[in-house]
Amino acid sequence: MIHYDQILTRLREQSLFRELRNIDEIQGPVVKMGDHTVVNFASNDYLGLSQHPSVKAAAKTAIDRFGVGSSASRLVSGSQFPHRQFEEDIAAFKGTESALLFSTGYAAAVGTICSLVGRGDVIILDKLAHACLIDGAKLSGAYLRVFPHNNVTKLKHHLEWAQSAYPQGRILIATESVFSMDGDLGDLAAIVELKNQFRALLFVDEAHATGVIGPQGSGLVNALGLKQQVEVQMGTLSKAFGVSGGFICGSRTLIQLLVNRARSFIYSTALPSACAAAGSAALQILCSGEGDALRSQLWNNVFLLAKSLVTVAWKSPQPTSAIFPVIIGDEAKALRLAESLLAHGFLVPAIRYPTVARGAARIRIAMSSSHAPEQIAALSGAIVASRS
Ligand SMILES: *Cc1c(COP(=O)(O)O)cnc(C)c1O
Repeated sequence: MIHYDQILTRLREQSLFRELRNIDEIQGPVVKMGDHTVVNFASNDYLGLSQHPSVKAAAKTAIDRFGVGSSASRLVSGSQFPHRQFEEDIAAFKGTESALLFSTGYAAAVGTICSLVGRGDVIILDKLAHACLIDGAKLSGAYLRVFPHNNVTKLKHHLEWAQSAYPQGRILIATESVFSMDGDLGDLAAIVELKNQFRALLFVDEAHATGVIGPQGSGLVNALGLKQQVEVQMGTLSKAFGVSGGFICGSRTLIQLLVNRARSFIYSTALPSACAAAGSAALQILCSGEGDALRSQLWNNVFLLAKSLVTVAWKSPQPTSAIFPVIIGDEAKALRLAESLLAHGFLVPAIRYPTVARGAARIRIAMSSSHAPEQIAALSGAIVASRS
């Protein structure tokens, strides 16, 4: 019998133990925890859309029409109108033939990777790829190779190896456009060039770019004009859309393949219609003048924070996303900083192994358009004070 207590004790000793915090109420960027309120810098709700009246209203209307739960897998009980509508909307937004909703981004990634590659194929990941890409890769049974973050020279070596070792196999490269714990960008232009040269497929996870980067927030793939060259564009409704759910955009063939092969789609109850309808409402906002205004507010906030943190934290004065890691290194120190910020009224998570490498612990600040300049100034003041 394994002594699970010992596992937990060891996690505590290494400052790697995790605990849930309770949130009692959310008001814009302010959350109530017990009897104190703190400013939330832990949320990926970049444009505040989870609180938007028309996003909420769309969810409520869908509940009245379709009920709360979706009752079964779509292959069993059918697609409801909001599913089809969102899939059409998101495919048009991303500039692809077709799209498919999943219950989460995690499920979308795992199901899709396992549909595209298997035993005898090769999957190549960026070292900093999100857990859902790693888990999909492992579950697929394909040979897994990892290249150091954004190191296209090493990626090329892996491609050469794959081509000679598995000449009959497919090759899939999976990476992110905005890296979730570092906030920097994948070198997509260079990766596309290589994947063309080696006739590999490319999967790009745009979880943190959709809604934030590119024209109307359509993502980095679109911003770089690469949509014709990226076979799989993945995204989630749970970040800038302020909702919940995941999606894959690509060719009609890809989507038909997923409906037939993606186990996380086939054997899981459909995303509730309320989420799909709220997703369409959020997408409408992203594409509107209001969306542009929210994005420009977000980017103003991002630059304001970057400027005020430049002396202590930020490697480059030119931020490329709404995610700011302040790298601390030591796990215990990162935890202490997060605790001290919480005591000062700021919810900022400490990110530790295995989310990031050992000794690369950090606090991760996620900016929102709804933060006020005074809140940002107060946070950066508290961080600067703690680091000097
Ligand atoms: C959050 C996230 C996901 C998972 O999306 P969910 O909808 O939360 O399951 C996938 N990839 C990246 C890079 C993410 O940050």
